[in-house]
Amino acid sequence: MTELGSAKGAGEAALAAPAYDTQRHYIGGAFRTAARGGTFESLDPATNEVVAVVADGTPEDVDRAVTAARRAFDESPWPHLKAEQRAAVLRRIAALIRVHSDEFVEREVRDIGMPISQMHGLAARSADNFDYYAGVITELHGRAFQVGDEFLNYTIRKPVGVAGLIMPWNAPLMLSTWRIAPALAAGNTIVLKPAEWSPLSSTHLAAVLEEAGVPPGVFNLVHGYGETAGAPLSAHPGVDLIAFTGECGTGEKVIAAGAPTLKRSSVELGGKSPVVVFEDADPELVVDAALAQIFTMNGQRCTAGSRLLVQRSLYERIVTDVAERAKTIRIGDPFDPRTELGPLITVEHYERVLGYIRSAREEGARLLAGGGRPSGFEVGNYLEATVLADVRPDMRVFQEEIFGPVLVATPFDTEEEAIRLSNATQYGLAAYVWTKDIQRGHRVAHAIDTGMCWINSHNVRDLRVPFGGVKRSGIGREGGEYAFDFYCETEIVHVALGSHRIPRLGLGDDE
Ligand code: NAD
Repeated sequence: MTELGSAKGAGEAALAAPAYDTQRHYIGGAFRTAARGGTFESLDPATNEVVAVVADGTPEDVDRAVTAARRAFDESPWPHLKAEQRAAVLRRIAALIRVHSDEFVEREVRDIGMPISQMHGLAARSADNFDYYAGVITELHGRAFQVGDEFLNYTIRKPVGVAGLIMPWNAPLMLSTWRIAPALAAGNTIVLKPAEWSPLSSTHLAAVLEEAGVPPGVFNLVHGYGETAGAPLSAHPGVDLIAFTGECGTGEKVIAAGAPTLKRSSVELGGKSPVVVFEDADPELVVDAALAQIFTMNGQRCTAGSRLLVQRSLYERIVTDVAERAKTIRIGDPFDPRTELGPLITVEHYERVLGYIRSAREEGARLLAGGGRPSGFEVGNYLEATVLADVRPDMRVFQEEIFGPVLVATPFDTEEEAIRLSNATQYGLAAYVWTKDIQRGHRVAHAIDTGMCWINSHNVRDLRVPFGGVKRSGIGREGGEYAFDFYCETEIVHVALGSHRIPRLGLGDDE
């Protein structure tokens, strides 16, 4: 077992990254092929050529990983260390991610087609996640409740046990580190199941964690498909909690699978977030923000501002300006630093997004920009930045998450109508309100059914603030110290300070 504190080379570029083209599981401190020997291929979205052959996880692999994590939780010192000792390991992980940042960026861009100019920030954020949670865990404390001179009650925080993390493909490194960091900081052990479409960065991350001194079994990784690796993880009796990020329907299955063993779960799901623009808003800022909010991350972003709701007097100007700028967004090779919009993740997803555009046109929406494959891009899953106007609430593109570079716009007349339209979907993840009237800004933010609302701002988030959705966008809050409400148990200790009266039963007539 790696001795804690004896990291192999934190801060130095000593780590030999695991082979790029062969992605194996990482279980009990060793890279392993799949128990049944199966593999699947991972494709480059820019070419649809094979970039990696990946171990195909099955219930046997999941069981091995959970067994390793269980043993590490029950027998290793990890859960019992002082917070500062675990924090030191987390800080080394952060340092190593920074040292290997180019490698992480390279893998992730190749894997998911994220424009490289946007990926650098996400890699930096991934390192920050570990530094941040190293700080929080050393500050975390319980509460004491004094009950006169008779009792003292106090709370302590304890790790929950084995954490199953099931992650999506749209920002794998950033989203998984945002869970791994607090889960480890709290003293849990982990089994990570990355999405089958984006395996590359997680294997490298396993090597980084080992290099930083995470003991064998504390972090485990099982690649594979949802049905064959995700489902057994979410049902495994050895798993105590599941952090799931992905689609609503999958979230339902994950919660149901965990129900027989009463697993604690945090589910971060889809969104159809409104950008609400009142006529007193600054039109230039609104256009910049509307474009950034839907077309960064290739539109594959859970908090994307995918519905543009504009007060009628400003509507035509905003949708026209947004559409004109959308037409000049630079589409291209995600490795080109000038690229603003890269390819979508897979052919299957690309076809799905095109289907939404088709349905909107059939239902009478006005296509103002994009709508198809850009000229000059015959291979790869490239799609133009697309703007659809005059979209009605009964259309599929108003109601359903497209998860691509497609913005739908709808006019409104009054504040009440803006709120009604904002709330007219099953989702409630994020909202963006634009107005110079400060009272209206707050009023509308409070009235929208949403987990998060930004006023006169695009999506910027400090690591300290909670994150999560309402309605079908999820259950629970992660982020900041709120993460420890999920990754820790709170135990309450009741102490009698002196003598107090205890009801005396069973004394019969002697009382
Ligand atoms: P998905 O639900 O298809 O897959 C997510 C993960 O679940 C993958 O690892 C997949 O293999 C696994 N999975 C699939 N079926 C499973 C099953 N039956 N049991 C257990 N695991 C299973 O989602 P996706 O397509 O990877 O991601 C896109 C979705 O994620 C979008 O809806 C997006 O909005 C959402 N998302 C939400 C947030 C958030 O924080 N709210 C962040 C990013 C993405």
